[in-house]
Amino acid sequence: MVLENIGKPLVLRDVPIPEPKQGQLRIKINACSVCRTDLHILDGELPKPSLPLIMGHQIVGRVDSDSTRFKKGDLVGVPWLSKSCGHCFYCENGRENLCDAPEFTGYTLNGGFAEYCVANEPYVFPIPEGYPEIQAAPLLCAGMIGYRSLKMCENAKKIGFYGFGAAAHLLIQVAQYQKQKVYAFTRKGDTKTQESAKKMGALWVGDSEMDPPEPLDAAILFAPVGSLVPTALKAVRKGGIVVTAGIHMSDIPSFPYKILWGERILRSVANLTRQDAEEFLSLAPKIPIQTEVTPYPLEKINEALRDLKEGNITGSAVIIL
Ligand SMILES: [Zn+2]
Ligand SMILES: [Zn+2]
Repeated sequence: MVLENIGKPLVLRDVPIPEPKQGQLRIKINACSVCRTDLHILDGELPKPSLPLIMGHQIVGRVDSDSTRFKKGDLVGVPWLSKSCGHCFYCENGRENLCDAPEFTGYTLNGGFAEYCVANEPYVFPIPEGYPEIQAAPLLCAGMIGYRSLKMCENAKKIGFYGFGAAAHLLIQVAQYQKQKVYAFTRKGDTKTQESAKKMGALWVGDSEMDPPEPLDAAILFAPVGSLVPTALKAVRKGGIVVTAGIHMSDIPSFPYKILWGERILRSVANLTRQDAEEFLSLAPKIPIQTEVTPYPLEKINEALRDLKEGNITGSAVIIL
């Protein structure tokens, strides 16, 4: 399913099966989860996608070519970071997520809304035992980048989640495992999502504009809504941390300095490192993280994207091949 024009539905096309170049392997895809980033690419909110493009960066499939790291048939996953240069300031300082010359799956390189893809071997990960393909797919972005966001909350005990979609569904399980309490904020009046958050163990649920019952140690903004930044800053205590987890966000309105004062920290999370991926994939089966998925056949991807945009999905939308 190919993105040929920004803002237009993806179209079904027959394309050649991709040939891996040196250092790459080919994957026969079983499942690929849909991410909000795909919507941002589709809507032209990210700069210069290389069209025509096959999006999709939460890929699970079987190795389908010779490889130095894997056996043919191994179940592997491909996340958003597809390559980093290895020699820029960021790569040399353990922050390859900020690489100056990165490649991204389903953005600068064709991704997983297809039957086959190629991927750079060092950026491919074995899927842990016990995860069926479709259940594993959301771990690859919602899980991994969510996990990086949670790490940025440092040793917070009380954490607010603004937006309770795919990433929050996974992260609340990690938070509980780490004995952290989750306060779930949703769109005003979204009682369905609030009930689901409560069921998953949120200590408190409410509308995003409400004050939490007590000041929070940290907050993660999963919703790409800039006006939530001052809201979340007001909800955290002195020294509290607000993390924006999305790749794109609407403009942040100006706010009084006093809500940042008191050494509150406001920071974004960008992409992921391979270390995040490895840590998260070894943690997931220990918890064990359960994923809630809504499956769609490949040719229904436009419906999946629309449902995600309209907030009609509980958990993650996953394309199955
Ligand atoms: Zn993503
Ligand atoms: Zn680099």
